[in-house]
Amino acid sequence: MKKIAILGSTGSIGTQTLEVVRENKDIEVLGLAAGNNIELLEKQIREFHPKLVAVWTEEKAKELRSRIQDMDVRITAGMDGLIEVSILPETEILVTAIVGMIGIRPTIEAIKAGKDIALANKETLVTAGHIIMPLAKECGVSILPVDSEHSAIFQSLQGGQHQAIKKILLTASGGPFRGKREEDLLEIKVEDALKHPNWEMGRKITIDSSTMVNKGLEVIEAKWLFDVSVDDVQVVVQPQSVIHSMVEYVDGAIIAELGTPDMKLPIQYALYYPERRYLPGERLDFWSLGKLDFEKPDMDTFYGLALAYEAGRAGGSLPTVFNAANELAVSQFLNRQIKYLEIVEIIEDCMRAHKNIQNPTLEQILETEAATYDRINSRR
Ligand code: NDP
Repeated sequence: MKKIAILGSTGSIGTQTLEVVRENKDIEVLGLAAGNNIELLEKQIREFHPKLVAVWTEEKAKELRSRIQDMDVRITAGMDGLIEVSILPETEILVTAIVGMIGIRPTIEAIKAGKDIALANKETLVTAGHIIMPLAKECGVSILPVDSEHSAIFQSLQGGQHQAIKKILLTASGGPFRGKREEDLLEIKVEDALKHPNWEMGRKITIDSSTMVNKGLEVIEAKWLFDVSVDDVQVVVQPQSVIHSMVEYVDGAIIAELGTPDMKLPIQYALYYPERRYLPGERLDFWSLGKLDFEKPDMDTFYGLALAYEAGRAGGSLPTVFNAANELAVSQFLNRQIKYLEIVEIIEDCMRAHKNIQNPTLEQILETEAATYDRINSRR
């Protein structure tokens, strides 16, 4: 039995990870963590029998304890609870499917405890990649990408040599507003931005996909995962999301991973790497597909992507500002406090105001996050 724990078990990636567990029957789930969705968490506890479960607030922990009094499971809360789940002694792999840079500390502690990381939580790598990647190397643990594009790159790199990489071709669907100009986006509502053409995901990443900030986060994520510069990562819009990403080698060969959009594939690949297992589901049929389209990303309208390249090139604490500003701006947009186009305006404003710190410590990253939030909150 493979033993795992999942941070963010009630979310889109978390629930799909549990579907993979359900299908395979040789994975034991020892720990779960989530925020507020106690109802779903209770169902997960009854089905998967973890030993330890963390929720964010003590109030929710109390509620959950009373719901599952008949079961032998310990419930913890807060950051200490998240960390406890992350370092459970018997687990081999931690699936980081929590959303936002709140995942940094649990991920670092899991690595120190020798756990391999199946990483969906890109915000952690974007802000603390310079801490996480060397630490993983030092502790001999693997960071296995769950993000579909990064899994595709990881799969395309199997058997290839790092020095033979010419560039990474990171594909993007272009999101629901592909082809639109800034003037078309002035009155975008939350409901419009939540309609992704190809993928069903959590709310934050769906908004990020619509602004192309998600692609920007992925460019920086690729830099850390594959040890390349951001300028060696080229974004290619591939509206059907059939090509999940590619690697171009120095001899001109391009290796790609293709398939129907299904996050269970990268999740299962990360959990069983290097083994490839049967996965039920729809298969790609080239005869009915007919053709694939490609476009250059529109970095003028979707200039959040250009800001991500700028942050990724500069490094230091600037990617934290980019990410933190986006996290708060997106949550304000989802709460209908700001307009759609303000999301990227806010990111740019925070980046311009920031004095970059090279090689920031974890404490400096968290201070930068707090200072970014203060700046945004003082706007209104
Ligand atoms: P969701 O919003 O669907 O899920 C987020 C999860 O995190 C939920 O289980 C939520 O709990 C939990 N969570 C949020 N805040 C806290 C907290 N303070 N303490 C404990 N748990 C918390 O997000 P996704 O699954 O879409 O995304 C998760 C991560 O994976 C993100 O970093 C995203 O960028 C990345 N990713 C997602 C993809 C996808 O297809 N969805 C694809 C590639 C990457 P609750 O709901 O109970 O409050």
